[in-house]
Amino acid sequence: MLRIVAEVGPLSEGSRLSVEFYLGLLSRGTLAEGAEIKVKSWPPLCPQCKQEVEPWGTNHICPGCGNVVPLPPGGEYLGLESVEIE
Ligand SMILES: [Zn+2]
Repeated sequence: MLRIVAEVGPLSEGSRLSVEFYLGLLSRGTLAEGAEIKVKSWPPLCPQCKQEVEPWGTNHICPGCGNVVPLPPGGEYLGLESVEIE
């Protein structure tokens, strides 16, 4: 059983799901085919009050101060964290 853990920047839930989907597509015909794919993400923080902002689309509204938080740098980040073979 193969397990792939990827890490993405603070993206919306929809983006996270499409990363999972594309990793699944990319693994077709490779050793990773049929692998369990897990995508980890972290929520963006409001620059003003440091509250966690619910990711939604490209702009996020802070629940604390109502500040519009743009997708922070790193939002496009995509990396492989680990590949495990059991
Ligand atoms: Zn805030």
